[in-house]
Order: sequence, then structure tokens, then C-alpha cells
Amino acid sequence: MVTIVKRRVSILGATGSIGLSTLDVIRRHPDRFSVSALTASTSVDSMVELCHEFRPRYAVMADENAAAELSRALGDLPSVAVLGGSEALCQVAGDGDSDTVMAAIVGAVGLPPTLAAVRAGKRVLLANKEALVMSGKLFMDAVLASGADVLPIDSEHNAIFQCMPPDKIRDTRGAGITRILLTASGGPFRTHSAESLRNVLPAEACNHPNWSMGQKISVDSATLMNKGLELIEACWLFNTTPEMIEVHVHPESIIHSMVEYADGSVLAQLGSPDMRTPIANGLAWPERIEAGVAPLDLFRIGQFHFERPDLERFPCLKLAAEAFHKGGTAPAVMNAANEEAVSAFLSGNLCFADIPLIIERTLAATEVVPADSFDTIFAKDAEGRVVAREQIRALAV
Ligand code: NDP
Ligand code: MG
Repeated sequence: MVTIVKRRVSILGATGSIGLSTLDVIRRHPDRFSVSALTASTSVDSMVELCHEFRPRYAVMADENAAAELSRALGDLPSVAVLGGSEALCQVAGDGDSDTVMAAIVGAVGLPPTLAAVRAGKRVLLANKEALVMSGKLFMDAVLASGADVLPIDSEHNAIFQCMPPDKIRDTRGAGITRILLTASGGPFRTHSAESLRNVLPAEACNHPNWSMGQKISVDSATLMNKGLELIEACWLFNTTPEMIEVHVHPESIIHSMVEYADGSVLAQLGSPDMRTPIANGLAWPERIEAGVAPLDLFRIGQFHFERPDLERFPCLKLAAEAFHKGGTAPAVMNAANEEAVSAFLSGNLCFADIPLIIERTLAATEVVPADSFDTIFAKDAEGRVVAREQIRALAV
């Protein structure tokens, strides 16, 4: 008889696109998974529904008012403890009630709770790429120190992970790996002219051709900053450098990335573009479980296409590689500037084509220092945001 290890899972960002996909996989396997904590920022209605279905021990709202509202709404569910504030996020991420944490908060605010889960030595399913991009070496040092099992959920990194020998994830040279082929969809504006990128609207940027995702990552996909963040993410996860990684635009989004070996073999991971595949892979690893994903129909797809990324129309990818090379606090500042620029674009205060300009100007105006502590990273994140907002205001007048 096979014994199934039952995992107790906390989901940071439970109401988002990744959070809900995670809960969909968990729903299919009540024998394998139970829910310890669900967290969100302000989405009370969605949390009420999720708490009734999954009966977590903790429900955390980062926003204190939303926590008070959730507590009132869950009066009929005394088994769920409702907590509020960002400290509570770290508390449930690091406590002993769960062994697995899905890190799926969007943006830099996800770093402290993700780090708490890492420091507690849990299995950490990493979707929140911004956390790793900001803090790179410090984050990976914390992983090595605690023995946490960080499994990549980003579809490309999960694909790369699946194409590598599991014991050589951080030793690409020892594994005989010569190149990582990081695929990119190219986003909704892949074929747009530089001129027309000035007039695109938030709704168009969020309408990704292949993936259904939260707004921020959708805009990142449209600017190619998502690929820039992923380039840095891959360098840290797989202990390699941008020179070993070649971005391939593959508009069908069926090959999720590839790994080339010294003997000429190229291993690829393919599948329908559905995040439940990497999520199920991370939740059950090293086992395989059903995830509700539509089978791949290659006869219907017919052809695969590949292009080089156009760094003139989409300079964010280049900016990210440069920030990685600069090192220190440069990636944290770049990430902060990008978050501010994306938010300004989404609220109609910045033109899409000016997102890279804001990032470039913010990087130029912010001193790079060694990233020697998390406090330094948080301080530079805050400084980068102030500078980026000034740059956004300057463009508006
Ligand atoms: P969503 O915007 O759909 O969801 C974000 C989640 O984070 C929500 O639960 C939201 O709560 C919560 N949240 C937002 N702000 C805060 C805050 N200040 N404090 C605490 N919680 C907060 O994002 P996605 O699911 O699309 O993305 C999540 C992460 O996963 C991102 O880092 C993204 O880059 C990464 N990722 C996503 C993929 C995808 O397919 N969506 C693919 C690969 C990576 P509320 O609902 O209350 O606002
Ligand atoms: Mg991705």
C-alpha cells in the first residue's frame, strides 16, 4: 500500500490568480492537502467564500479594516482565527501549523512573508518572483541556511526545473548544461509598432493572448519586464548568469522553456498554458497528480514559432539584465520603479511606452550600494519608489 504524505498548505495571496489556481488543485485532492492559512489584502467577499469552503485555521487580511470586516462576516465560523496586518502574514507564513507555503502575493510586499516561510525551512512554492529579484543572494543564502525546499512555480522556471537532474539544480556546469532557453509569449503587443505602443490602454495590456493572470504581471508581460524579472529569477534559482540564458519568443506558449546539454540534447517541458500544471508539480513534487489541465492537442496547434526579442521596442528586458550585472541594490530599485510605473499606467497616469523610461531614470538617479542586509534592500525599495514617483510626476507636466 502506498502511503500519501498529507501536506498542510498556507496560501499567501489566496484570492489572486495563482492563489485560486492553487486552491483548485487542492480541492481535487482532499486526501493529500489541507489548508492552514489563507491570506489576502482587501478582498473580503472572496475570502468569506474561501474560508467556508476550505476551513483554514487562519484567515489573514493585510489591511486591518478588511480584517475587521472579515471577522464580522465569519461570525458563524468560530474555528477560523482572523488576523490583520502585515506582521500576521509573516506569522502564518513561518508558524508550525503548515509545512508548505504558496508565495503568491504580488510585488515587493510579498518579500517579508515569503522570507518568513523560507527561514522556517518549509517547502516554499515560489510564484512571487519580485521577492527573489529584489533580494537575490540574501534570499538564496537564507534558503541554504534553513534547508527550505524552494520549488519554482513560474511556468518557465518550473519547466527548467523539470528538465534538470533534481540533485543538480544549482550546479548547471556539473550537470553538463550549456544553455537555458527561456521562452516568452511576447505579450499582447508583440507585433505592434513602437509608435502605436504610445496609445495602448490598460485593458489592452491586461488582455494577454495565452495566459489569464493578475493585472501587474499582465502589464509586465506586455513590456517584457516579466521576462527581465524571470531572467534574474533564473540566475538566482539555478545559480547561473544571463550569458547562459537565451530568451526565445514563442508566441504559442506551449513550450514553457528548454535546457540544452553538452551532448546537443535539448530537453523541453510542454503543456497547455495553465498555471495549475506548475502548481500541481510543486505541491506534489516528486509525485505527479491530476491538475484539471486540458490535454495538449498538438494537431490543433499545428506549428511552433520562435523569434528573438526586440529590445528596441521592449527595452525592459535589457534594463533587467543591466541591473543584474550592476548588482547590489540595483535589481531592488529596478523592481520598485517598475511597480510604481505599472501602477501609474494602470491608473491612467503614465503612457505605456514610458514605463521603461521611468525605470531607466530611477536607476540612473539612485545610488547602488551593496545589498548586505534585508534592511538595506527595503530602504532602497522605498527610495526607488520615491524617485520613480517624482519621475512619473515630471513626465505628467
Ligand atoms: P493577483 O493580482 O491576481 O493576486 C495578488 C494576490 O496578492 C491577491 O490575493 C491579493 O489580495 C494579494 N495582495 C495584493 N496586495 C497585497 C498586499 N499589499 N499585502 C498582502 N497581500 C496582497 O496576482 P497573480 O496571482 O497574478 O500573481 C501573484 C504572483 O505570482 C506575482 O508575483 C506574479 O508575478 C507571480 N506569477 C503569476 C503568474 C500568473 O499566472 N498569474 C504566473 C507566474 C508568476 P487581494 O485580492 O485582497 O487584493
Ligand atoms: Mg512566467
